[in-house]
Amino acid sequence: MKYAMLIDVSRCSICYSCEMACKDEYVGNVYPPFSYSQTDRQPAWISVSEIEKGKYPHVKVYAVPKLCMQCEDAPCIKVCPVPGCAYKTDTGAVILDPEKCTGCKACMKACPYDAINFNDDKNICQKCTLCQHKLKEGKLPACVDACPSGVFFLDEESKVKEMAKKRGARQMNPEYKTGPKIYYVGLPSISLAGHIIDAHSLMDVADADVAITNSKTGEKVALKSNQSGNILATYLKQDEKYSLEIKCKGYRSKTIADIRLDIEYNHLGNIKLDKVA
Ligand code: SF4
Ligand code: SF4
Ligand code: SF4
Repeated sequence: MKYAMLIDVSRCSICYSCEMACKDEYVGNVYPPFSYSQTDRQPAWISVSEIEKGKYPHVKVYAVPKLCMQCEDAPCIKVCPVPGCAYKTDTGAVILDPEKCTGCKACMKACPYDAINFNDDKNICQKCTLCQHKLKEGKLPACVDACPSGVFFLDEESKVKEMAKKRGARQMNPEYKTGPKIYYVGLPSISLAGHIIDAHSLMDVADADVAITNSKTGEKVALKSNQSGNILATYLKQDEKYSLEIKCKGYRSKTIADIRLDIEYNHLGNIKLDKVA
């Protein structure tokens, strides 16, 4: 069966258990024919990048776990000069055969996601195998198993694609056109956030209906404030103007016009709603 993975960035608590589990699985352990052991000097084959966006005091930290994208149209396979060295298994994972690799680094240079690192003890290129040895035994990859926050969803490709569609997940850097099998929910994007509160009590206002409209195109995003009164609209357009309209039972409607999205994470701060008299 062919696998794919969905990563929910918003759930990551930056505990690094996935990185540690990956190192633990591979340093000093060999899983032929998929992988030789990695050195403890090599970076783990999954890394959690902390990306800060916004302006003080409204700063958002995104934690993005990155690993090999197990590309459908993998540049690393295309450039490898050794026949049969870089290939795909029946699980859809891309493997660099440690017995055939000559350490020429062509794959490292070709990978747009920087997912391959070099083992200078063995003179070979290495990367995430999607824990092939574990998948073959019906077990979860080490990082997936170790994550305490339910960030990873690994399953049969069509199920993951369906979930990705339902949750508005995106591939990382789709412009590379390599067909990544890893989908992300909550990647940094041009976004507009705010916190809706009662003007008198300053309590959070949950479940308010919010419409965010692009002033130029008329494109509209509809959402509701969450239990803490927060709103977040993602994948908007940079340097374009938007208007925001809030409607909530018991409160006067409110419109904020001419909001220019000049940075990646735009936060309107507290938005106060007045009760209907
Ligand atoms: S992310 Fe890089 S290493 Fe992984 S399959 Fe794609 S090109 Fe190959
Ligand atoms: S799937 Fe396995 S090899 Fe890949 S990052 Fe996770 S633990 Fe490491
Ligand atoms: S184990 Fe899960 S919660 Fe912890 S850093 Fe990795 S992805 Fe984030």
